[in-house]
Amino acid sequence: MYDYLIVGAGLFGAVFAYEAKQRGKKCLVIDKRDHIGGNIYTEEMDGINVHKYGAHIFHTNNKEIWDYVNRFVEFNRYTNSPVANFNGELYNLPFNMNTFNRLWGVITPEQAKAEIEKQKQEAGVSQPTNLEEQAISLVGTDIYEKLIKGYTEKQWGRPATELPEFIIKRLPVRFTYDNNYFNDKYQGIPIGGYTKIVEKMLEGIDVKLGVDYFIEKEKLDSLAEKTVFTGMIDQFYNYKYGVLEYRSLEFETEFKEDQDNYQGNAVVNYTDRATPYTRIIEHKHFEFGTQEGTVITKEYPSEWKENDEPYYPINNSKNTELYRKYKNLADQETKVIFGGRLATYKYYDMHQVIGSALKTVEKEFNV
Ligand code: FAD
Ligand code: UDP
Repeated sequence: MYDYLIVGAGLFGAVFAYEAKQRGKKCLVIDKRDHIGGNIYTEEMDGINVHKYGAHIFHTNNKEIWDYVNRFVEFNRYTNSPVANFNGELYNLPFNMNTFNRLWGVITPEQAKAEIEKQKQEAGVSQPTNLEEQAISLVGTDIYEKLIKGYTEKQWGRPATELPEFIIKRLPVRFTYDNNYFNDKYQGIPIGGYTKIVEKMLEGIDVKLGVDYFIEKEKLDSLAEKTVFTGMIDQFYNYKYGVLEYRSLEFETEFKEDQDNYQGNAVVNYTDRATPYTRIIEHKHFEFGTQEGTVITKEYPSEWKENDEPYYPINNSKNTELYRKYKNLADQETKVIFGGRLATYKYYDMHQVIGSALKTVEKEFNV
């Protein structure tokens, strides 16, 4: 009946389905949630597009991927420049001359570099082997203590010494007065929300929502020649080698009808350890909204347990080793393709998910 059963109506599943349809293939897309879009889903509340699963800013250096997403939706000129709130002191992110000036009163890049080098020497870090050492080596101990340690330990629920260095390397360190959170050439927010992208991709494709693959796996598999699976890889194999760890999140969303501008920025990070949430998002600022009232969301991290949403893979050595075992099984499958953030256990951004979906398509259709 179908060429492909696609488990997950997120970005990976949608790109695959769209490309397969272009090649004359028939797809059935299912999702256990009651909407399409996966974690990029946005929903309108009082005229404001709310990022239901956390702030999503599209950014890429790859022109092909930028052109690809622009086929489905128009992007605005939003540039992410979050502010960090450490016990009431505000600092610009990512770490740049504005941050260094506010912290140390330094004016020139040379002075900032000298201060960081001094702190790095004092801490005795030469070859970083974990997130803490990597952070100190990049920006020194003051920034580590005020802007990184508390946030990181809340976000990941583990000491920064037990986390991989690559997580902190996601953030630019810049010796210019530039608060752009990303170094990428292209950046923006889809006008009208992210859901539009996935809606366009899935146009003319059969979609069934509220369907959990594992509840009717055999029946669903029998509907198609092949399955594209974008859920959790350890669950696919019934956790036979053990459970991969994830971080989950709780989102607390409030509509403030009497306030038009709650925090003056789309993203404010709370980098102290005591505040239980990591950030507050004020959604209207992603689209320069002028609506009456505003919608804010607080993001509370937690350890994933069964039936929670798994938002972040925890790519430490223990999980990486376990994932490798599942990956070996996956590599032997002839009728199942694994893709996306959960099935490949990778801390992928949207552009990387699109890139990897297009690679999978190339491989599958020999183009
Ligand atoms: P998902 O979006 O997770 O889609 C997988 C889908 O599969 C889900 O809808 C799920 O319900 C469904 N599913 C799983 N198991 C089953 C099952 N058993 N049966 C049926 N359906 C199932 N990226 C950026 O580029 N910029 C950002 O600013 C950014 N911010 C982020 C903020 C947060 C809080 C999070 C969590 C992620 C962020 N990302 C960001 C990453 C981005 O969300 C992902 O790269 C992208 O959404 C992954 O797409 P996906 O299709 O792999 O997975
Ligand atoms: N981070 C931090 N302080 C901040 C922002 C980020 O220490 O104010 C660290 C933290 O460990 C976080 C990582 O940098 O998990 C990556 O940040 P990013 O903004 O890319 O996280 P995401 O948007 O994916 O949650």
